[in-house]
Amino acid sequence: MQPEALFGIALGIVPPWEVTEVNFSKESNRLDITIDFQRGSAFPCPVCGASAPAYDTTEKTWRHLNFFQYEAYLHAFVPRVNCPNEGCGVKQIQVPWARAGSGFTLLFEALVMTMARDMPVNVMARLFSVSDTRLWRVINAYVEMARAKEDFSDVKRIGIDETSTKKGHNYVSFFFDLDKRKLLFGTEGKDNETVKDFVADLKNHGGNPEQITDAAIDMSKAFIKGVKEQLPNAVVTFDKFHLIRLMNEALGKVRAEEARLFPDALKRSRFLFLKNPEDLTPEEEARMDTMVANQCYRSVEAYAHKLNLQNVYFAQSRQEAEALLTQWHKQTSKSTITLIQKMAKTVKDHWSGILSYFDSELTSGFLEGINSLIQAAKARARGYRNPRNMISMAYLIAGKLKFNKLYA
Ligand SMILES: [Zn+2]
Repeated sequence: MQPEALFGIALGIVPPWEVTEVNFSKESNRLDITIDFQRGSAFPCPVCGASAPAYDTTEKTWRHLNFFQYEAYLHAFVPRVNCPNEGCGVKQIQVPWARAGSGFTLLFEALVMTMARDMPVNVMARLFSVSDTRLWRVINAYVEMARAKEDFSDVKRIGIDETSTKKGHNYVSFFFDLDKRKLLFGTEGKDNETVKDFVADLKNHGGNPEQITDAAIDMSKAFIKGVKEQLPNAVVTFDKFHLIRLMNEALGKVRAEEARLFPDALKRSRFLFLKNPEDLTPEEEARMDTMVANQCYRSVEAYAHKLNLQNVYFAQSRQEAEALLTQWHKQTSKSTITLIQKMAKTVKDHWSGILSYFDSELTSGFLEGINSLIQAAKARARGYRNPRNMISMAYLIAGKLKFNKLYA
């Protein structure tokens, strides 16, 4: 058997195509495979499928899977057919080894999609000596194709979360199906328009906004407004992690202000206040005592309010939670620390959404995983150049997309 025929079998090339030339160059680190078709062959018209004769050809090259450490390329003169059927005319045919318009073979793209789940795209780009922009184009195309087949008709409970993109002043909003624990939709921005965009996408996938019974969101005005306008039957639950984060931010500011008055006692103490008392080491406990002794009362008071707020979430029922939250509010609203008073007001303003956490069954288990998935997507998309790429990576990691049915 000729090596050309062997490569033809390995590549799955079938008539009228055949491998006509194989060139291996150790010096240039390449394997070049030329594919040609038998003269006089007919091809199916890409529009109507009728068999039509070749009209002319264009030379094209595709990057293929590496042959050991050597880069492999496929070359072919791809014909245009002149279809006799009305409305068709001269059209470029589809080759069986590559997606229309792609400079990679299907096998190469399959490898890219498999590796992209576990390896940052810029690392993959170095490994293959291919620009990351080209790899992102492949990832975006497949994610789009797989999303086009998604069915959202049974979505009932959603969670919305926002994350900043790498430069910090742009945001991306993510919409999750809390029951299937998967990413439904991601879009740039964090205003109420993003909810409108989500609803449009939901409808495009057979979903019904009136069927959404619950929405877990953070306390941003934009999401509250968006949900109220776009999801008429959704009960709002405020994300527990967002509330605790706000509380920690307030505590951090109180501590920073006080550190100016007591620089020695509060030096490098930021992380101390983020810990729970039971996690403090004996040295850290001793430091806490020093702070009290040094009259760092405001930091210590804010820390106590933080712990009490966390404690609300250990309640076994809504009733118990409401009792604990009422007590917390009573203490914080009479605090002399402005930032703590402000926090008390925030909680009062979002009272029912905070408490609906306890009867909407949106238990922490549902929400906890979301943030780690987004962080994983951001890490995998490292150096992702634009938010769209980051969103694609999030779909790939958290979208539970089915790629096996794309060519079915
Ligand atoms: Zn045709």
